[in-house]
Amino acid sequence: MNNKKLYGKIVIKGIIHTLTGLHIGGSKETLEIGTVDLPVIRDPVTREPYIPGSSIKGKMRSLLERYKAGSDTSFFSKNVGNAKIHACNTKEEAFNCEVCRVFGSTGGKDGSNFPSRIKVRDAYFTLYTKRHLENAETDFLFSEVKYENVLDRITAAANPRQIERVPRGSDFSFEIVYDVEEKTHIEEDIANIVMLMNLIEDDYIGGHGSRGYGKVKFYITECIAKKIEAYKGESNSEKVILSSDVKLEDVEKPEEELYTKLASVSQLKEKVQEIVDFFKS
Ligand SMILES: [Zn+2]
Repeated sequence: MNNKKLYGKIVIKGIIHTLTGLHIGGSKETLEIGTVDLPVIRDPVTREPYIPGSSIKGKMRSLLERYKAGSDTSFFSKNVGNAKIHACNTKEEAFNCEVCRVFGSTGGKDGSNFPSRIKVRDAYFTLYTKRHLENAETDFLFSEVKYENVLDRITAAANPRQIERVPRGSDFSFEIVYDVEEKTHIEEDIANIVMLMNLIEDDYIGGHGSRGYGKVKFYITECIAKKIEAYKGESNSEKVILSSDVKLEDVEKPEEELYTKLASVSQLKEKVQEIVDFFKS
């Protein structure tokens, strides 16, 4: 277990379709002073809002921790700042833990780290969303500003604040890569990842979710299972599990019809056994 094997990779690609406005907080320094109270995170070079992979991964992890913990609060054994989270204490524990072996654990009591089996890339606008927002009359470049009031409960005075958000209907390209390190874990791990994507759809990404922000839907454009031999160019060592006919770079503008042509998370769920069987073969 000290030498982690790599049997292959499972790559899931697609889009995150926003059904409501999305706010992932960024630094005020990147905007002119005083323009908006709560700005969104932006790429420092292109100025485009994006979804950091860490935001998606963090959401997935926290949902799986809560799912696995059930009513057992001792599951959240580690303090990070003021927050209690789950983390396994040894490599052996992490290897047998559905949370830590997928999402990683650091700073165990024996000083061990268990590197994450998944990578979640930063998610940037699809080309058609970028074009659409460039031509739309939004408050700021690629974003809108929503005013919210917090009423002072004693004086009844309104304290308006502005929250910047990415307009609903915007699409981001996502990519999740899972490393196959233990063949007997594939079924459980991939089933968990798929379940978490489903859970996020009924939860939210980013901030202010309880006030309606950040509702998203995942669409899968491609899922490929690759044995390690595929990287050496050997034939029959990779398998397309799911693939849509739509090329996102050819999409002119986001129309309802597009989404009917893409696979849902439920369709990916039906393919888990096929992935398992491929790595057994
Ligand atoms: Zn754990």
